[in-house]
Amino acid sequence: MISTGRKVRVKQMNFLKERIEKDGKVLSPSVLKVDGFLNHSIDVQLMDEIGKAFAEAFHQNNITKVITIESGGIAPAMTTAFHLNVPMVFAKKAKPSTMSDPVYTTVHSFTKNTDYTLCIERSALSEDDNVLFIDDFLANGQAFEGICHLLEKTGSNLGGVGICIGKSWQKGQELVMSRNVPLWILVSIQKMTPEEIVWDEPSAWACE
Ligand code: 5GP
Repeated sequence: MISTGRKVRVKQMNFLKERIEKDGKVLSPSVLKVDGFLNHSIDVQLMDEIGKAFAEAFHQNNITKVITIESGGIAPAMTTAFHLNVPMVFAKKAKPSTMSDPVYTTVHSFTKNTDYTLCIERSALSEDDNVLFIDDFLANGQAFEGICHLLEKTGSNLGGVGICIGKSWQKGQELVMSRNVPLWILVSIQKMTPEEIVWDEPSAWACE
């Protein structure tokens, strides 16, 4: 469960909940498959609604760029950037030969249980950037930590975090909150089995 008095907000997104209940598949007590609409096949109308919701949540935070990690975060990050009217950059999981001055970090993959290298071109972010991190899931926060390292290496600031699907028993939410940045989660799962998903109620969540 979420601790109170911190900068966490959940927006009750009923249509995302309904879609997860209809088309999501619980593969294990900690892994939910949503590749029919979010991170493989993409429901573009749903992504547009998600982008609008994050843009509404962060429109007063002076965001200059949206960042995500390939590939699951690209669709929601792109619609968010579109509605905030700012550029979007995604961190790559392998260094392309075309990258001239990459910055790197190592991230542990939650779903694959292996380490991978994350990189962006140094010039993609600058000291003037106030960056919003968008991702499909927040589990133990390793992807988030990797993004924080890349931002530190480029001197840019983390201005907020927007997550489509949170899982509140895992460590990621505490980790984000410990960095004292605004965190918005569109729907949050308290526990899940192949038969049932139990949702966190927004009223149980703390606001700024
Ligand atoms: P974290 O780094 O917070 O432990 O995990 C976040 C990353 O792992 C996300 O970018 C996402 O790609 C992946 N992930 C975490 N939990 C799930 C899940 O339940 N289902 C899927 N499909 N991916 C997940």
